[in-house]
Amino acid sequence: MKTKLTHPIFKIVADCADEMNVQAFVIGGWVRDLLLDRPCKDIDIVAIGSGIELAERVAQKLGNQYHVNVFKNFGTAQIVYEDYDIEFVGARKESYRSESRKPLVENGTLEDDQNRRDFTINALAIALNKANYGELLDPFDGQKDMALKTIRTPLDPDITYSDDPLRMMRAIRFATQLDYTIEPASLASITKNKDRIKIISNERITDELNKIILAKKPSTGFKLLFDTGLLHHIFPEMTALHGVEIRNGKGHKDNFYHTLEVLDNICKTTDDLWLRWAAILHDIAKPPTKRFEPDHGWTFHGHEDKGAKMVPKIFANLKLPLNEKMKYVQKLVLLHLRPIVLAKSEVTDSAVRRLLFEAGDDIDDLMKLCEADITSKNEYKVQKYLKNFELVRQKLKEVEEKDNIRNWQPPITGEHIMQTFNIKAGREVGIIKNAIREAILDGIIKNDYEEAHQFMLKEGEKLGLKAS
Ligand code: ATP
Repeated sequence: MKTKLTHPIFKIVADCADEMNVQAFVIGGWVRDLLLDRPCKDIDIVAIGSGIELAERVAQKLGNQYHVNVFKNFGTAQIVYEDYDIEFVGARKESYRSESRKPLVENGTLEDDQNRRDFTINALAIALNKANYGELLDPFDGQKDMALKTIRTPLDPDITYSDDPLRMMRAIRFATQLDYTIEPASLASITKNKDRIKIISNERITDELNKIILAKKPSTGFKLLFDTGLLHHIFPEMTALHGVEIRNGKGHKDNFYHTLEVLDNICKTTDDLWLRWAAILHDIAKPPTKRFEPDHGWTFHGHEDKGAKMVPKIFANLKLPLNEKMKYVQKLVLLHLRPIVLAKSEVTDSAVRRLLFEAGDDIDDLMKLCEADITSKNEYKVQKYLKNFELVRQKLKEVEEKDNIRNWQPPITGEHIMQTFNIKAGREVGIIKNAIREAILDGIIKNDYEEAHQFMLKEGEKLGLKAS
């Protein structure tokens, strides 16, 4: 391992630890990612003694500009060095009580510290002192589990998961990120302990959920969350998508697996968390809008509208931000059928203009979502739909170049209307503004000042107003 500890910080920590006569190790995620060849900017150093004192010594050696952030309550200290976040902590032994996830913490040995880690692949440590610099300490065969691509707990899984139920989410998150299998005893234990997820805060659950969503193939994680029963606790609206109902011999597609396909599809074209969330939520209102109409079969009328309305509550429950990110997701959910309607029918300029007006700068993301939404197994149909969307994209481009609707600003302001007719703000101003906007969107007049001005005069006249 010696040759792999190339970063100069390790030599500095090693020198300080030797001077202080304490043992020090780099441990956990950084070691795992080193062996997996994944870049990692978080370095965890564990000292058999005081992590805070070691951090202070290291900062001194690095020079004045480095500051130690001390978290006395946790017994940890942090130094930000270049773009690395280095955390120092004393080795700990933890014991849990059943009613709380806050463990009793005492000083411990390296083995104690490794025992409290969540997975064998996260319990690896590399020694830093001169005497054993670079020695890999792998008490639970983490390297073997890496070769087998397996998530395994160091202790009995029932103890590991029941002590800190967030680890159930973490197991699924690592399985998804690394494309590993959770070993059967662990999976059974997650299923058994799923109800204990209740004692974990929604913020921490959502942190892990978002990491699953940001993986290359998030469906792996969602299927595990569903199969273990965790999803029912953390995101019941999504489990409601699961299942197929058949009536009079007519079934509908399973919207849970369809949503996962859409999600995996969109992940091929974007790394953006919120566009991925839009894919997760695009059909979220299918269960509450589902109807069986004897003549047509299953319908989900209005699911885009109702879905957009469901977004704020889902975001609030999951402690996702209730800001412009949420509004963006709502907008995409609301509009997700519009390009499909365009693709099916004769594409008129007016319909394209309206879509551009409503989607604004998010039009490209909306088109990506619609393309990801094609999950037919019939390759002929897929090609046909994609070709239609290509036509819609082309049309969007043409209309945008011509009319510049995407970030539409009305060519005539309310002020201008008030001045022209010498009226105060009120109903008439709104009516005229609306009429101008509709005329532009319908292509009756061009999106420019002169045409809009003339049109305004006529509309004013209809209302009995006189230009002054
Ligand atoms: P990532 O960096 O991808 O978010 P990570 O697990 O490497 O994941 P942290 O969450 O900072 O990053 O955890 C660092 C290390 O701390 C882990 O590798 C693991 O050894 C330990 N650890 C973190 N959370 C837990 C937990 N809930 N239970 C036990 N050990 C944990």
